[in-house]
Amino acid sequence: MPGYDAIVIGVGGMGSAAVYHLAKRGLKVLGLEQFEIPHELGSSHGHSRMIRYTLQEHPSLWHALEQSARETLVVTTGSVRAGPPDSDFYLGAIEACDMHQIPYEILGNTEVNKRFPGYQFPDGISSVYQADGGFLLPELCIVSHAQVAEEAGAEIHSGETVLGWEVQGDDVQVRTNRDTYSAARLVITAGAWAAKLVPHVAPFAVPERQVLGWFKPDRPELFTPENFPVFGIWTEEGRYYGFPNYSVPGFKIGRAHHLKQKVDPDDMDREIHADDEEILRGFTSRYFPLAAGDLLDTKTCIYTNTPDEQFMIGVLPDQPQVSVAAGFSGHGFKFASVIGEIMADLAQNGETSHNIDLFRLDRFDS
Ligand SMILES: Cc1cc2nc3c(=O)[nH]c(=O)nc-3n(C[C@H](O)[C@H](O)[C@H](O)COP(=O)(O)OP(=O)(O)OC[C@H]3O[C@@H](n4cnc5c(N)ncnc54)[C@H](O)[C@@H]3O)c2cc1C
Repeated sequence: MPGYDAIVIGVGGMGSAAVYHLAKRGLKVLGLEQFEIPHELGSSHGHSRMIRYTLQEHPSLWHALEQSARETLVVTTGSVRAGPPDSDFYLGAIEACDMHQIPYEILGNTEVNKRFPGYQFPDGISSVYQADGGFLLPELCIVSHAQVAEEAGAEIHSGETVLGWEVQGDDVQVRTNRDTYSAARLVITAGAWAAKLVPHVAPFAVPERQVLGWFKPDRPELFTPENFPVFGIWTEEGRYYGFPNYSVPGFKIGRAHHLKQKVDPDDMDREIHADDEEILRGFTSRYFPLAAGDLLDTKTCIYTNTPDEQFMIGVLPDQPQVSVAAGFSGHGFKFASVIGEIMADLAQNGETSHNIDLFRLDRFDS
């Protein structure tokens, strides 16, 4: 008899949700995390992750978790998705809102700057404003999932690294730096480390270094959650995103695919250099000049990109005991709660009623 019904490797954004959903269904679950829970070496730290209704990211599971964990996890600020009026980024937001009948407003640059004076968008930038958008608190989401998972009977080990796994008969053996465990099912949610554990996804789930900066606003009152919606913007300088002051001081900003640096997560440069700061400061000075004060903090973080920037989710073709969720390509956190539910479905039944065709593991196979 295997020791566990399911083992989950990686208790980060996705894994903490998977452990919770498995435990809630009454399964005997072990979650294994190599670092602390949470930590700052993967993809789920930095105090905020955007959630926008414009992408049909319905937060009902997050609200359910807020109730179970007795924590506030979602902060509503409104969201702005902006770019040149003919850009796919801007037009795609309108299309998504129309398709899913989500209310929105179109704001020209003078309108958006007047309504939210922390913004100083130049001519030629249009915005889709969606009043219900906002952000999640990722570290607290992970801790909440882990906490309610333990309350539901899950066992979670931190500081325990999985060194390897293999299918033996009907079961899976998982070897760590401390012990060997067996389970009927294995769920791998290892983020940037997925390629090291799952050869099948290795060529298609590529880690990339990201940098976040927090700048001191000259007018902090314009950068509060009440006065400053989260934003994503497509510009000639690249695709940037940002957040109001919340929980830590400073206006937070990042550029998607920062310097396009592919990395090994165990050997990534986690120092911040002058060019890292300049990419963030230059943009802030032009589009949010009242926030371009001292650099208060920085963090490195990791995207795990797939060729089409869609996720990879499924059961391994020749090993039906093992399912994987990887390649979240810089936009996965908002879906972590539902991914947890999907991974529990795959482990329990080998299938899910959620439509995950877009994320098929075999779509890059030639
Ligand atoms: C800078 C930045 C900004 C982002 N902004 C947004 C946003 O605004 N909105 C959004 O929705 N998404 C955003 N994302 C993407 C989102 O944060 C990620 O898609 C998501 O956090 C990925 O979760 P994960 O569980 O795959 O990875 P992680 O949370 O990193 O979890 C993987 C875990 O597996 C553990 N692990 C790996 N290997 C082993 C092993 N061998 N043994 C034990 N444990 C192991 C790791 O230590 C880690 O804790 C952003 C990402 C970054 C980096």
